Amino acid sequence: MKTITEQKPLEEVMQPLEKCERVYLIGCGTCATLLHTGGKSEVLEMKDKLEEAGKKVTGWMVIPTACDELTREALRENAKDIEAADAVLVMTCAFGVQTVTLYIDKPVYPALNTLFIGKEESPGCFTEVCMQCGNCVLVQTAGICPLVRCPKSLLNGPCGGSEGGKCEISPDTDCAWQKIYDRLEALGQLDKLEEIQPLRDWSTTYGGGPRKIIIS
Ligand code: SF4
Ligand code: SF4
Repeated sequence: MKTITEQKPLEEVMQPLEKCERVYLIGCGTCATLLHTGGKSEVLEMKDKLEEAGKKVTGWMVIPTACDELTREALRENAKDIEAADAVLVMTCAFGVQTVTLYIDKPVYPALNTLFIGKEESPGCFTEVCMQCGNCVLVQTAGICPLVRCPKSLLNGPCGGSEGGKCEISPDTDCAWQKIYDRLEALGQLDKLEEIQPLRDWSTTYGGGPRKIIIS
């Protein structure tokens, strides 16, 4: 499972750096490297672009896993170069950006957009599988998530627009409910489709504010 990111357009990356002369760059050796959005090559490409734009890059590093606690140590080891910068540009997922923000007392800007948590279905092809909704319905849907796989997030069966097993939004997208139906049929559990799902309480998702759990 990986955090899927894409690079922001260069103009958008440059905008908050307009008044900065010196920039420190950070990439991530895990998801962003796999996605070619914030690994060593992309960090060095960004360094060139910043220098072409007249910025001084005071240093750069690719933290092995930017979202974990060792980030603090990596930042400490590179404190001198980071201190020399006006801002830090982070080429990691938003989790990595927020981890860096925890330990740095100067502006920290993201160079990537964080899209979703995804699974690599085939080499280089990442698909969203879960939006961490906080109230999993996979027991009713044969292990296939209708919230992320159906563009309408339908919980009580298909919309009626699918054709040949494909979603009406695109012939490249499988209809989630066709897949759910086929799998329930194969499992001998088609009766599950008769159980009407109640109106969903979306407060268990990000719509309910920051989620927190304490494990004792
Ligand atoms: S219903 Fe879908 S989004 Fe919610 S937890 Fe289950 S897999 Fe994730
Ligand atoms: S065609 Fe299937 S996947 Fe597409 S919106 Fe309708 S029910 Fe959802």
